[in-house]
Amino acid sequence: MTNGQWDDVDRYLVQTLVGDADSGVLQANSAAGLPAIDVSPAQGKFLHLIARSIGARRVLEIGTLGGYSTIWLARAVGEDGQVISLEFEPRHAEVARENLDRAGVGKRVEIRVGAALDSLPVLAQEEPAPFDLVFIDADKINNANYVQWALRLTRPGSVIIVDNVVRHGAVADAESTDPSVRGSREVIEMLGAEPRLEASVLQTVGSKGWDGFAYAVVVE
Ligand code: SAM
Repeated sequence: MTNGQWDDVDRYLVQTLVGDADSGVLQANSAAGLPAIDVSPAQGKFLHLIARSIGARRVLEIGTLGGYSTIWLARAVGEDGQVISLEFEPRHAEVARENLDRAGVGKRVEIRVGAALDSLPVLAQEEPAPFDLVFIDADKINNANYVQWALRLTRPGSVIIVDNVVRHGAVADAESTDPSVRGSREVIEMLGAEPRLEASVLQTVGSKGWDGFAYAVVVE
Protein backbone atom coordinates (compact mmCIF):
# COMPACT_ATOMS: atom_id res chain seq x y z
CA MET A 1 0.00 0.00 0.00
CA THR A 2 1.29 3.50 -0.83
CA ASN A 3 1.02 6.71 1.15
CA GLY A 4 -1.46 7.87 -1.53
CA GLN A 5 -3.73 4.98 -0.61
CA TRP A 6 -3.42 5.85 3.09
CA ASP A 7 -4.58 9.38 2.17
CA ASP A 8 -7.51 8.02 0.12
CA VAL A 9 -8.62 5.82 3.01
CA ASP A 10 -8.28 8.69 5.48
CA ARG A 11 -10.36 10.96 3.22
CA TYR A 12 -13.07 8.30 2.96
CA LEU A 13 -13.09 7.73 6.74
CA VAL A 14 -13.19 11.44 7.49
CA GLN A 15 -16.03 12.03 5.01
CA THR A 16 -18.00 9.14 6.46
CA LEU A 17 -17.29 9.34 10.17
CA VAL A 18 -15.93 12.78 11.04
CA GLY A 19 -17.33 15.41 8.68
CA ASP A 20 -15.71 18.79 8.17
CA ALA A 21 -17.13 20.72 11.14
CA ASP A 22 -13.69 21.78 12.38
CA SER A 23 -11.87 22.15 9.07
CA GLY A 24 -12.02 25.93 9.66
CA VAL A 25 -9.67 25.47 12.61
CA LEU A 26 -7.04 23.85 10.42
CA GLN A 27 -7.52 26.60 7.82
CA ALA A 28 -7.13 29.28 10.50
CA ASN A 29 -3.94 27.59 11.73
CA SER A 30 -2.54 27.52 8.21
CA ALA A 31 -3.51 31.16 7.60
CA ALA A 32 -1.72 32.10 10.84
CA GLY A 33 1.42 30.31 9.63
CA LEU A 34 1.29 27.46 12.18
CA PRO A 35 2.92 24.18 11.10
CA ALA A 36 0.44 21.47 10.03
CA ILE A 37 1.45 19.10 12.81
CA ASP A 38 -1.95 18.79 14.48
CA VAL A 39 -3.50 15.34 14.90
CA SER A 40 -5.47 14.28 11.81
CA PRO A 41 -9.28 14.63 11.89
CA ALA A 42 -9.73 10.87 12.33
CA GLN A 43 -7.18 10.86 15.16
CA GLY A 44 -8.86 13.90 16.75
CA LYS A 45 -12.21 12.14 16.77
CA PHE A 46 -10.55 8.99 18.11
CA LEU A 47 -9.09 10.99 21.01
CA HIS A 48 -12.51 12.49 21.65
CA LEU A 49 -14.05 9.02 21.75
CA ILE A 50 -11.39 7.73 24.15
CA ALA A 51 -12.06 10.67 26.46
CA ARG A 52 -15.80 10.02 26.31
CA SER A 53 -15.35 6.26 26.79
CA ILE A 54 -13.55 6.79 30.07
CA GLY A 55 -15.94 9.57 31.15
CA ALA A 56 -13.09 12.08 31.33
CA ARG A 57 -14.02 15.37 32.98
CA ARG A 58 -10.49 16.66 33.52
CA VAL A 59 -7.93 16.53 30.74
CA LEU A 60 -4.34 17.74 30.67
CA GLU A 61 -2.80 18.34 27.26
CA ILE A 62 0.89 19.05 26.68
CA GLY A 63 1.31 20.76 23.30
CA THR A 64 -1.63 22.93 22.18
CA LEU A 65 -0.50 24.29 18.79
CA GLY A 66 -3.69 25.88 17.33
CA GLY A 67 -5.99 23.93 19.62
CA TYR A 68 -7.27 21.35 17.12
CA SER A 69 -6.84 18.35 19.43
CA THR A 70 -7.83 20.60 22.35
CA ILE A 71 -11.23 21.25 20.75
CA TRP A 72 -11.88 17.52 20.33
CA LEU A 73 -10.93 16.94 23.97
CA ALA A 74 -12.92 19.93 25.23
CA ARG A 75 -16.04 18.66 23.47
CA ALA A 76 -15.58 15.32 25.22
CA VAL A 77 -15.38 16.67 28.78
CA GLY A 78 -18.75 18.40 28.57
CA GLU A 79 -19.83 21.80 29.81
CA ASP A 80 -18.66 21.22 33.38
CA GLY A 81 -15.38 19.64 32.39
CA GLN A 82 -11.98 21.25 32.12
CA VAL A 83 -9.00 20.98 29.80
CA ILE A 84 -5.68 22.50 30.78
CA SER A 85 -3.35 22.76 27.79
CA LEU A 86 0.34 23.69 28.00
CA GLU A 87 2.00 25.51 25.10
CA PHE A 88 5.45 27.00 24.70
CA GLU A 89 4.82 29.42 21.82
CA PRO A 90 2.71 32.48 22.73
CA ARG A 91 1.61 32.87 19.10
CA HIS A 92 0.32 29.28 19.00
CA ALA A 93 -1.58 29.87 22.23
CA GLU A 94 -3.11 33.07 20.82
CA VAL A 95 -4.35 31.30 17.67
CA ALA A 96 -5.62 28.39 19.80
CA ARG A 97 -7.55 30.77 22.05
CA GLU A 98 -9.33 32.28 19.03
CA ASN A 99 -10.11 28.82 17.63
CA LEU A 100 -11.41 27.53 20.97
CA ASP A 101 -13.64 30.53 21.50
CA ARG A 102 -14.97 30.29 17.93
CA ALA A 103 -15.70 26.58 18.49
CA GLY A 104 -17.73 27.48 21.59
CA VAL A 105 -15.55 25.57 24.07
CA GLY A 106 -13.29 28.41 25.21
CA LYS A 107 -14.68 28.50 28.76
CA ARG A 108 -13.67 24.87 29.36
CA VAL A 109 -10.07 25.37 28.35
CA GLU A 110 -7.20 27.05 30.14
CA ILE A 111 -4.03 27.49 28.10
CA ARG A 112 -0.83 27.98 30.08
CA VAL A 113 1.99 29.51 28.10
CA GLY A 114 5.59 28.49 28.79
CA ALA A 115 7.86 25.46 28.65
CA ALA A 116 5.80 22.55 29.92
CA LEU A 117 8.59 21.48 32.26
CA ASP A 118 8.19 24.91 33.94
CA SER A 119 4.38 24.87 33.90
CA LEU A 120 4.02 21.32 35.29
CA PRO A 121 5.66 21.95 38.70
CA VAL A 122 3.50 25.08 39.12
CA LEU A 123 0.41 23.08 38.26
CA ALA A 124 1.39 20.30 40.68
CA GLN A 125 1.92 22.83 43.46
CA GLU A 126 -1.70 23.92 43.06
CA GLU A 127 -2.70 20.34 44.00
CA PRO A 128 -5.39 20.06 41.33
CA ALA A 129 -7.94 17.24 41.32
CA PRO A 130 -6.45 14.30 39.40
CA PHE A 131 -6.66 14.41 35.63
CA ASP A 132 -8.60 11.57 33.99
CA LEU A 133 -6.65 11.80 30.73
CA VAL A 134 -3.27 13.26 29.79
CA PHE A 135 -2.48 13.79 26.10
CA ILE A 136 1.23 14.35 25.46
CA ASP A 137 2.03 15.92 22.07
CA ALA A 138 4.85 18.47 22.46
CA ASP A 139 8.66 18.26 22.18
CA LYS A 140 9.35 14.55 21.88
CA ILE A 141 12.69 14.63 23.70
CA ASN A 142 10.82 15.32 26.94
CA ASN A 143 8.21 12.57 26.55
CA ALA A 144 9.52 10.49 29.46
CA ASN A 145 9.66 13.58 31.72
CA TYR A 146 6.08 14.40 30.76
CA VAL A 147 4.91 10.88 31.62
CA GLN A 148 6.61 11.20 35.03
CA TRP A 149 4.71 14.44 35.64
CA ALA A 150 1.51 12.87 34.35
CA LEU A 151 1.90 10.13 36.96
CA ARG A 152 1.97 12.79 39.68
CA LEU A 153 -1.17 14.44 38.33
CA THR A 154 -3.38 11.41 37.72
CA ARG A 155 -4.98 8.55 39.71
CA PRO A 156 -5.34 4.80 39.21
CA GLY A 157 -7.57 4.36 36.16
CA SER A 158 -6.41 7.52 34.42
CA VAL A 159 -5.16 7.23 30.85
CA ILE A 160 -1.95 8.72 29.44
CA ILE A 161 -1.51 8.97 25.66
CA VAL A 162 1.78 9.90 24.01
CA ASP A 163 1.53 10.84 20.34
CA ASN A 164 4.01 10.26 17.49
CA VAL A 165 6.13 7.55 19.06
CA VAL A 166 6.66 5.42 15.93
CA ARG A 167 8.19 8.15 13.73
CA HIS A 168 7.94 6.48 10.30
CA GLY A 169 9.35 3.31 11.85
CA ALA A 170 12.54 4.98 13.05
CA VAL A 171 11.66 4.00 16.62
CA ALA A 172 12.96 0.49 15.91
CA ASP A 173 16.46 1.86 15.24
CA ALA A 174 18.40 1.57 18.50
CA GLU A 175 21.32 3.44 16.92
CA SER A 176 19.29 6.48 15.85
CA THR A 177 20.77 9.81 16.89
CA ASP A 178 17.55 11.74 16.09
CA PRO A 179 16.56 13.34 19.42
CA SER A 180 12.84 12.75 18.78
CA VAL A 181 13.43 9.06 18.03
CA ARG A 182 15.53 8.76 21.16
CA GLY A 183 12.73 10.49 23.10
CA SER A 184 10.23 7.98 21.73
CA ARG A 185 12.43 5.01 22.63
CA GLU A 186 13.03 6.45 26.09
CA VAL A 187 9.34 6.87 26.79
CA ILE A 188 8.41 3.42 25.43
CA GLU A 189 11.11 1.79 27.56
CA MET A 190 9.98 3.78 30.57
CA LEU A 191 6.36 2.71 29.98
CA GLY A 192 7.52 -0.91 29.83
CA ALA A 193 9.48 -0.64 33.07
CA GLU A 194 7.15 1.53 35.16
CA PRO A 195 5.12 -0.66 37.55
CA ARG A 196 2.46 2.04 37.98
CA LEU A 197 1.54 1.83 34.27
CA GLU A 198 0.26 -0.77 31.81
CA ALA A 199 0.93 0.35 28.25
CA SER A 200 0.88 -0.56 24.60
CA VAL A 201 1.65 1.24 21.35
CA LEU A 202 -0.59 1.21 18.29
CA GLN A 203 1.02 1.94 14.91
CA THR A 204 -1.05 4.16 12.62
CA VAL A 205 -1.03 5.17 8.94
CA GLY A 206 -3.03 7.86 7.19
CA SER A 207 -2.81 11.48 6.09
CA LYS A 208 -0.03 12.05 8.65
CA GLY A 209 2.07 9.16 7.31
CA TRP A 210 3.30 6.22 9.39
CA ASP A 211 3.35 6.85 13.10
CA GLY A 212 1.66 5.63 16.27
CA PHE A 213 0.67 6.46 19.80
CA ALA A 214 1.35 5.00 23.20
CA TYR A 215 -1.67 4.29 25.40
CA ALA A 216 -1.06 3.75 29.09
CA VAL A 217 -3.38 3.14 32.03
CA VAL A 218 -2.34 4.13 35.53
CA VAL A 219 -2.73 0.94 37.56
CA GLU A 220 -1.55 2.02 41.01
N1 SAM B 1 -1.80 18.73 20.01
C1 SAM B 1 -1.80 19.63 18.88
C2 SAM B 1 -2.89 19.21 17.91
O1 SAM B 1 -2.96 18.01 17.60
O2 SAM B 1 -3.65 20.08 17.46
C3 SAM B 1 -0.47 19.61 18.17
C4 SAM B 1 0.69 19.95 19.03
S1 SAM B 1 2.17 20.18 18.10
C5 SAM B 1 2.55 18.58 17.56
C6 SAM B 1 3.36 20.45 19.36
C7 SAM B 1 3.21 21.74 20.11
O3 SAM B 1 4.02 21.65 21.28
C8 SAM B 1 3.68 22.97 19.34
O4 SAM B 1 2.70 23.97 19.34
C9 SAM B 1 4.91 23.43 20.12
O5 SAM B 1 5.07 24.84 20.15
C10 SAM B 1 4.61 22.89 21.50
N2 SAM B 1 5.82 22.70 22.32
C11 SAM B 1 7.07 22.37 21.90
N3 SAM B 1 7.90 22.31 22.94
C12 SAM B 1 7.18 22.60 24.04
C13 SAM B 1 7.49 22.71 25.41
N4 SAM B 1 8.72 22.51 25.86
N5 SAM B 1 6.49 23.04 26.25
C14 SAM B 1 5.23 23.24 25.81
N6 SAM B 1 4.88 23.16 24.52
C15 SAM B 1 5.84 22.84 23.64
